[in-house]
Amino acid sequence: MTTETEVTPHSPTPVPFRAEVRQLLNILAHSLYTDREIFLRELISNASDALHRVQFEMLTNQEVRDADAELEIRISVDKDAKTITISDTGIGMTREELIENLGTIAHSGTRALIEQLEAAQRSNIIGQFGVGFYSAFVVADEVTVISRSYRPDAEAALWRSQGGDSFAIDAAEREQRGTTIVLKLKEEAHEFADEWKLRQIIRRHSNYVAFPIYVGDQRANETVALWRQQPRQVEASQYNEFYRQMTFDFEDPLLHLHLSTEAPLDLHAILFVPAKRERGLIERRMEGKIRLYSRKVLIQEEAKDLLPNHFRFIEGVVDSEDLPLNVSREGVQRDSGPNRDPIVQRIRKSLTARLTKELLELTEKDPAKYAVFWNEFSPFIKEGVATDPAARDDLLPLLRFNTTTSGDQLASLTDYKERMIEGQNEIYYVLAGDLESARRSPHLDALADRGIEALLLHDVMDGFMLGGLRDYQGLKLRNVDDPNLSLPGEAPKPDVSVSDEQFARLVTAFKETLGDRVASVRASNVLRHNPLRLVSPEDQHNREMARIQRMLDRDFKVPPKIVELNRGHALIADLARLVESGTNEALARHLIEQMYDSALLLEGLHPNPADMVGRIQALMEAAARRSG
Ligand code: ADP
Repeated sequence: MTTETEVTPHSPTPVPFRAEVRQLLNILAHSLYTDREIFLRELISNASDALHRVQFEMLTNQEVRDADAELEIRISVDKDAKTITISDTGIGMTREELIENLGTIAHSGTRALIEQLEAAQRSNIIGQFGVGFYSAFVVADEVTVISRSYRPDAEAALWRSQGGDSFAIDAAEREQRGTTIVLKLKEEAHEFADEWKLRQIIRRHSNYVAFPIYVGDQRANETVALWRQQPRQVEASQYNEFYRQMTFDFEDPLLHLHLSTEAPLDLHAILFVPAKRERGLIERRMEGKIRLYSRKVLIQEEAKDLLPNHFRFIEGVVDSEDLPLNVSREGVQRDSGPNRDPIVQRIRKSLTARLTKELLELTEKDPAKYAVFWNEFSPFIKEGVATDPAARDDLLPLLRFNTTTSGDQLASLTDYKERMIEGQNEIYYVLAGDLESARRSPHLDALADRGIEALLLHDVMDGFMLGGLRDYQGLKLRNVDDPNLSLPGEAPKPDVSVSDEQFARLVTAFKETLGDRVASVRASNVLRHNPLRLVSPEDQHNREMARIQRMLDRDFKVPPKIVELNRGHALIADLARLVESGTNEALARHLIEQMYDSALLLEGLHPNPADMVGRIQALMEAAARRSG
């Protein structure tokens, strides 16, 4: 490959950097780096992007300069001059593009990084993150870029900067399409003028780049893409390395899945479940990325259609020779939905089935690891149950629950089914705002007496999930706040310690105090240890969604509930006597309000718990006065 370049004699035009670039360069100049070598990863990654883009142009566009040029990255070192030269035969840049791309900050994450750096003064995170092209200035005190665009009519141009406030732009001589970057190394970075060292860095950070990288005459990166190798020949450490280089994630993935088939469908894929849903402070990404290749061409950087929505946290690479070559980036997207390309459909089906199977196997092989998965990604699986009827049955075995009898362990629906008592033909659940509240739910009194297990649903997504989880293997799921709850088995009758007249007066006091916030007030025949519970009236269909509504809506109003009172409870008896005596109506009202609020709190429905503070204070004053 010839990259003879020469600067034309007339004087170059100085152009000021945009403010944000100056800011970034300033931070780079005054930071200490633990990870200076990442500059190479960033420049190689840009070169690789440029190669992917020109490859794509060649598929869709007739006129590309040097259509026969090898797609490659070449790196050379001048040990005496202390320079590194990185050349690619990628898409190249015109003079205008040099100004636009290298004078402003294109990298969306870079802006976020600047903010982080300014806020935290933490320069050591640069290495974790990368700042694209400008990271060249971490090791170089002068950077020269000579480029020629793939467009046949474009001239070569030169960009040069010492990293201060401006860069120079000029005409240049360059025959071949592509970009050459020359780094004049800083004194303290002279060690990088060493081929052996550069090869090492490439192995560490850029080993799986899809194009050949030569340092001197020697190829420095992996020759066969990892996903095209036979799974049994790839070592676990290689998957982890590949994942790290692809995602920049620090942690090893939780799980990898390598598929390699040629018939009936040509499909080579490596999929990863990341260790965490979110990746650190800066990159708050909740969604994964699947790169789609066909015949070595990167067709989509973030393919959307290859997995169902609820697997969108998966990261990886999918490669199929069967995809039609004329399928364009836009094309794949446009044809999404029911008109999706039939090959894409088949790939999707195959990947989804394998992934689901892999997760199911994990539940048996390594329940502890599965619990880690569940802890991070359960919202996605629950969303799948709620929204994807086709996937629902496959996803149900993946669900895990806290229950009244499972302790610290998680239980599956099968576990629950096996532990049902005689005569039980429904699965009972209680909804609450958090796990502790769920465990304390007064609704559980009735179940505990009979030895019936209940699912403790305490995650906001649970209410949503129930929309798709009405039954499991013929067993209906039933909320224990159901007014028609009729339970199997026997329970002792609650004691009654208030007279009918006293109780009637208490019911009236509750109705007067709570007004239209309650649908009715009545005696309970299931409560044992709790004074009161809130039951949903029969017409409250949407009560599973109430917790989500509460979260989304600042003016959320609790739908009126039936208040059930435990006539055998000491607090109810005392309150009934207080009401009967008529000596302290204000105190009676406060107690009623507080009992109602406490119940809402346990249900996870209280619109604003802070409202209770004033009243609790009044109750404490009353208690202190009486005992003083
Ligand atoms: P990013 O690569 O994240 O967009 P950079 O600051 O690294 O941000 O690069 C800015 C832009 O400069 C790139 O988006 C690309 O358009 C252009 N660019 C950088 N390096 C090259 C290259 N080797 N060939 C062609 N274009 C390049």
